[in-house]
Amino acid sequence: MDDRLYALRRILYLVLMRNSSLVRRDLRVLWHPCTQMKDHEDLPPIPIRSGSGVWVEDFDGHRYIDAISSWWVNLFGHCNARINTAVASQLSSLEHVILAGFTHEPIIELSERLVATAPAGLGHCFYADSGSAAVEIAIKMSLHYWRNRGRPERTRFIGLGNGYHGETLGALSVSDVDLYRRTYEPLMPSHITVPSPDCYFREPGESCPDYSRRMFQHMHRALEQHADEVCAVIVEPLVQCAGGMRMYDPVYLQLLRKACDEHEVLLIADEIAVGFGRTGTMFACEQAGIRPDILCAGKGLTGGYLPLSVCLTTDEIYSAFYAGYAEQRAFLHSHSYTGNALACAAALATLDIFRDDDVLNHNRSLARHMAQAVAPLTGHPHVGEVRQTGMIVAIEMAKDGRGRKPYNWMERRGRTVYRYALEHGAILRPLGDVIYLMPPYVIQPDEIDRLAAIAAEGIDLASEA
Ligand code: PLP
Repeated sequence: MDDRLYALRRILYLVLMRNSSLVRRDLRVLWHPCTQMKDHEDLPPIPIRSGSGVWVEDFDGHRYIDAISSWWVNLFGHCNARINTAVASQLSSLEHVILAGFTHEPIIELSERLVATAPAGLGHCFYADSGSAAVEIAIKMSLHYWRNRGRPERTRFIGLGNGYHGETLGALSVSDVDLYRRTYEPLMPSHITVPSPDCYFREPGESCPDYSRRMFQHMHRALEQHADEVCAVIVEPLVQCAGGMRMYDPVYLQLLRKACDEHEVLLIADEIAVGFGRTGTMFACEQAGIRPDILCAGKGLTGGYLPLSVCLTTDEIYSAFYAGYAEQRAFLHSHSYTGNALACAAALATLDIFRDDDVLNHNRSLARHMAQAVAPLTGHPHVGEVRQTGMIVAIEMAKDGRGRKPYNWMERRGRTVYRYALEHGAILRPLGDVIYLMPPYVIQPDEIDRLAAIAAEGIDLASEA
């Protein structure tokens, strides 16, 4: 055989071998998150070699559109040139330094810009390294705030049914997605859960604002009954993402802000999934015209590059901790990597892109395109609802679409769609039987069309099974 042909075949062989050999090595030593590892017997993990824009590529050369932004973190594509440059340049001066007793320029600038970007009045930034850690901080800070204000009996939290705030114990304790919570229940304190304003359950003919308003009665009652023992209400503004991309109307947040003020209870907005333009505005709270007392952000903060999260708080909360050392009021929470300089550089580059590229406006036209692309699925006999808030589109599969009767969860219809999508070059990891598109903001209209077609074909296939 000709030497060159042999070399070419050898290279091809090595390349082709790499997915399977990496999978073998992976399964020997790794334990993946949110995964029943036995599922990998028939659907192995996919080793990714590279990413570019909305695409990632495996070691066998298959390409996939990252339709879910790698768990909702990626905003401006994989290997974004501007964020790459910012991180590389930061790398040459400072990678990390302890944030207690020391500071650095990227974190100062980031804090200034976040304070200027977030709803007015959130004047201080406290950092962590994951969304869950930010929620832990918000919980501890709220409790400590009331203690410092002479109200130590306030120790409970109110959360929404179907809410999700992360999976560390504190965050899980204010969450209500049974799948994640059930087993660990004995480890958690009892907080108060009120029914969600999730508009999927509105009556036929009832509008989403009316339903959200009606469901607020539950929150109203909970606050009337429990305000004296409650530190804060925590909500995911507008979209309960992990709970199935369930959506509700901004009017609920307006009523909530008013009621929290009346009862002197803090309001925590968990914008970890919905912040940074995902719902159409920079922060979802803006659509209700409200300012929470604590705003948690993470995920897209670094454009999906590095773990960084933040709690923005009011000056009033900050001041309640500011005192002479002997008063022992200081907030006590620390993570080793708090305020990592590389992560801050990625976050600053991300904010630069928002500033320079008119991202929110561009997203509005992408969102319109997404709506058109999935519109044919409305009325599908096995689709209960197609819903959208900004750059999130969700398609809820149902046994009886019109009656919204769900499939038996054990049938795992969503997984059939997931598998179909992978075979056709898209990552459409569902939430149960909810298929959703939550792509990076650099997606092109033709890529949206392609995703919508794959989702529709996958849903047809899954409903036949
Ligand atoms: N809060 C919300 C609303 C989330 O959607 C998530 C994660 O999906 C979290 C908190 C937890 O964030 P992390 O996974 O970074 O800990």
